[in-house]
This record gives sequence, C-alpha cells and structure tokens, in this order.
Amino acid sequence: MTVESDARYARQRRLPEFGDAGQARLAASRVLIVGVGGLGSPAAQYLAAAGVGTIGLVDDDVVDVSNLHRQPLYGTADVGRAKVDAAASRLAVVNPLVRIVRHETRLTRENAHALIADYHIVLDGTDTFSARYAINDACVALGVPFVYGSVARFEGQVSVFATADGPCYRCLFPEPPAPGSVPTCAEEGVLGVLPGLIGVWQATEVLKWCAGLGAPLSGRLVLFDALGARTQEIRLARRAGCAGCGMSHSVSHPASLSQSVSHGMSQPMSHPMSQSMSHPMSQFMSHPTEAEPAASGPDVLAPETVAAWRAAGTPMQLVDVREPWEHRTAAIAGSRLVPFGTLSEQLDTLDRTVPLVVYCHRGTRSRVAVDWLREQGFAQAASLRGGIDAWSVVVDATIPRY
Ligand SMILES: [Zn+2]
Repeated sequence: MTVESDARYARQRRLPEFGDAGQARLAASRVLIVGVGGLGSPAAQYLAAAGVGTIGLVDDDVVDVSNLHRQPLYGTADVGRAKVDAAASRLAVVNPLVRIVRHETRLTRENAHALIADYHIVLDGTDTFSARYAINDACVALGVPFVYGSVARFEGQVSVFATADGPCYRCLFPEPPAPGSVPTCAEEGVLGVLPGLIGVWQATEVLKWCAGLGAPLSGRLVLFDALGARTQEIRLARRAGCAGCGMSHSVSHPASLSQSVSHGMSQPMSHPMSQSMSHPMSQFMSHPTEAEPAASGPDVLAPETVAAWRAAGTPMQLVDVREPWEHRTAAIAGSRLVPFGTLSEQLDTLDRTVPLVVYCHRGTRSRVAVDWLREQGFAQAASLRGGIDAWSVVVDATIPRY
C-alpha cells in the first residue's frame, strides 16, 4: 500500500472489521455498474472513493439537463456528453487510483453475459425491465450476484439477488410487466434525493460483499417510503420452479447455452468469506496470470502450452469469444472472432476433430464457453488460462492490455 492510499483510506482501514485486508479486497474487486444515472452515479462516487479496484460503467446515454437534479456526478457543463465519459472524468478526480472501464452501450439480453462475465458483482442502476431481466438471467447463469435498486416518486426498494443460495429477481417477479403498464420515472416523477439514498444503499451492499463484511441483503427486500420516513422489510425465498434460478432453467441467452451455464455448471462467484479462487481476494493474492480458478486438465491450457503448440505448427482452431470491440483492441494473430452470444449459431462452422482453443479477456467467458462446447461434442475444446491478458504478459508483450 502506498503512502497516498495509506492516508486516503485511513478512516475505513481503522475499522477492525475492515482493516488492511478489507482494503486489499476492495482493491482486487471488479464491480460493474449498469446505468450511470440516478442510482448508478451516486453509487459510483462512493465505490470509487472507497477504493474499489476496477469499476465498469455501462450506459449509452448522454447527460441531459433534466438529469442534473438527481445525478450530481454530472455538472451543467457535461450536458450533451456521453455519461460514461463524463462519469469517468469525474471519478478520476474523485480517486485516480481506481481503474474505470467504459462500456458505452446499452445492456441487452445479447451482450449481458459478455459484459458481466469479467466482474465480481453487478450494481443494477437500470430503469428498464428488459435490462433488469437481462441482468438477472445473466447473473444467475454466471453465478454473479447483483444489487438491485429502484425508485419511483417518493419510494425506493433495495435487495441483493442471485447469490449462491438466495433468490433471484424472477423469484419475486417471474415475468416482466406488459410494456407501458408501469409508469417510468420520467412519466411519474421522482424526488431527486431518492435515487441518491437508494444508490448509496446499493453501494453499501457492494462494499460489504467485496470486503466480506456483515450480512448481505439477500432474501430480503427493503422498501423505503420517504414521505412517511419508514422502512419495511419483506422476506423473500427462492421459489421452486423459478424460470430464472430454478432447475428448469429456461431463460438465459442464448437459449441453447442456458442449459449448460445454469447452476453448478458455471463457476459460481462465492461469497468473499469462502476460499474460492474466484474471489477478488484470491486474485489479489495470486499472480495476475493465475487469477482464474487454478483448474488443471485438458479443458484449460496455460499460455506457454498454447504458444509451444503454435511454434510447433500443431493444428488448432483459435477462437476469440469476446466482443468485436475487444477483438479490435487486442487479438492473438490467427484467431477467429466468435462472440460468446453467437457461439450457438456459429457452431457448425467449427471443427470437432481439431483442437479448439478458446480465449477471452481473462479466462472466465472462455471457460463457460468450453464447458458448453464439450457438451456439444467438442471433446478437444480448451480454455486459454488467464485469457489474452495472460497471453500478453507471458507470451507476447506487443499485445496491448486493457
Ligand atoms: Zn429465481
């Protein structure tokens, strides 16, 4: 820990429950904020200030003057700017030690897996049901928890969904309401401070989870009524037969992938207090190239092994399952782009008889893809351990890291 970060985080490190270990866990954590609006922008400020190591921001909107009454992350001069850009500039001022990753896009059912797979926890700051259900289904499939929040008029709600043993959003609301049946904030109005309160409440849950503190707000829905100055807590249970998290999994995208990435087949993100290798703390403790679960065996290959195959001219198919913008940013020469969400459609273009090496950014998406490919008869499918990031460190330093 540097002298600067020593002083910056002194007040929270002084808490015995948090301490230097909590700070280190935050530094190793990767949090995705979906929607940098009323909920996401106050949350982002506190998460950055607290020292969360990597914060991803997903938003395709620009700052509008009507946003400013509840989104004080932005100023009048930001009107017209992309929210992810304005937010990244401001957060860099709040805490330059934090890495901000901008995803200037709208989260959809098609890209949700790819966006979420590189993160440990999601903060849902969306204002559409389609995005919320897409987050829920991708989080359940990937084993990544998400902190839900919503506001309308003078009321707000908070909960944590999709933990290893807690309910998911569909356990509470099985299907989205009919379009237009629920008024939006724009139609109904909202008191500006409400999303601030709820967004900071969500940030509190994220910090607790990342640092391994306290009891997560899982299995409980908190309702806050600002006018009555009252809170109410509703117990939620996991619902048998839930289309989101029940065993009869039927919702995730792509449809054919949903079976293989439902419970138990993917790599569930466990609670920080467990010893799972996929926890932020274990990333902190291990070498960056070993951040992935240290699985051995033919379904995961070390970068050195793949490099040796290439040098020897061993026949193989090298497939990149990231998104097109990532492929443009950095790619391994000779690899073919097949984004994760299109894998099932492009299956027939791959050869089951030739070794298939799958890579992504850090090795998470590729492992989920390989699990599924093996079920589809690709017995020689293997994931590149640590993804292109490890490849850049170990094999080819000319490939930019991002
Ligand atoms: Zn459920």
